[in-house]
Amino acid sequence: MGDFYQTLGVPKNASQDDVKKAFRKLAREHHPDKNPGDKRAEEKFKEISEAYETLSDADKRKHYDELSRLGAFGPGAGGFRPGAGGQGFDPGMFGQGGAQFDMGDLGDILGNLFGGGGAAGGRGRRKAAERGDDLQVNVTLSFDDSLKGVTVRVPVDKPDTCDTCHGSGAKAGTTPKVCPQCQGRGSIARNLGGFAMPQTCPQCHGAGTIIEQPCVACSGSGVQHKTKRYAVKIPAGVKDGSKIRIKGKGEAGLRGGPAGDLFVKISVESDELFERRGDDVVLEVPVTISEAALGTSVRIPVPGGGRVALKVPAGSQDGRTLRVRGKGAPRLKGGHGDLHVRLQVQVPVKLTKEQKQLFEKLGATLPDPRAAALG
Ligand SMILES: [Zn+2]
Ligand SMILES: [Zn+2]
Repeated sequence: MGDFYQTLGVPKNASQDDVKKAFRKLAREHHPDKNPGDKRAEEKFKEISEAYETLSDADKRKHYDELSRLGAFGPGAGGFRPGAGGQGFDPGMFGQGGAQFDMGDLGDILGNLFGGGGAAGGRGRRKAAERGDDLQVNVTLSFDDSLKGVTVRVPVDKPDTCDTCHGSGAKAGTTPKVCPQCQGRGSIARNLGGFAMPQTCPQCHGAGTIIEQPCVACSGSGVQHKTKRYAVKIPAGVKDGSKIRIKGKGEAGLRGGPAGDLFVKISVESDELFERRGDDVVLEVPVTISEAALGTSVRIPVPGGGRVALKVPAGSQDGRTLRVRGKGAPRLKGGHGDLHVRLQVQVPVKLTKEQKQLFEKLGATLPDPRAAALG
């Protein structure tokens, strides 16, 4: 037996979180679902499951570390495997129409990995309930929809109980058998230097049951990925990059633990006209040089549709920003931001003969602006 830390590829001082991450990554790679018929992947999957079973449990890990220090896992130590002690197995669970049975620790790990399919929620457990993982989906909205608010149906890929075997992992018409070696306990006692140590049952790998004919649909894992669709109400005025949390729609919890949450991350497409600045919106509006000098009223589009009249005061300089109150984006707490209209004074690039004459005539009447500014 290899070192559990080596098996998971983590250092001895790895955090529980790192252990979990390492296991998940490896388990996804080597899961029988992904490698149908591959015996080596199956073996590897069992190895990493066993390593995880011990390292993920603070008590078992501590015990394992202590025994490692004492050299219990040296070359002469044979196939000793710690852990798997204290599993709750209740023979009474059989005989309830065959549907209720306890897959034990391996089932827990599978359930943990794939979100509570399989044996999750089985009875007679002494392990604590565990909250399911959070999930995230990304949703892209048009600028208009982000202002109006929409309800979108988001597809979420989630692990779920296999429809064919209802999570048992056994082929239709068959049921998992009680493991003959451990009589369903999942562990056997092993004498180690005069004291008895519980060891994960080598035949069922702690499951307590043996699946003789695996379910074809899920390769015996009891878990199938399914796409669930949730209607998500996105509030008017939602900002690019914000996340909406939907409680309890993440992965299922274990052993009666609560489900994780679903996070919907919003991306808002940029708009040709409008630019969002917090709850305000910026719009650039071109005006002629005479409109800027004389003042005018222009009709401008507003976010979300429609137009309003905007008074451009006489003597407006290029870049002047005018505020239209309440015409910005909806605030999540009610009300609206403002629309900031930035004037672009356009100086004509090409002049007709007549325009040239008029500008010359006008120019002769204007005072020298540099006399005051530059001295
Ligand atoms: Zn067994
Ligand atoms: Zn199945």
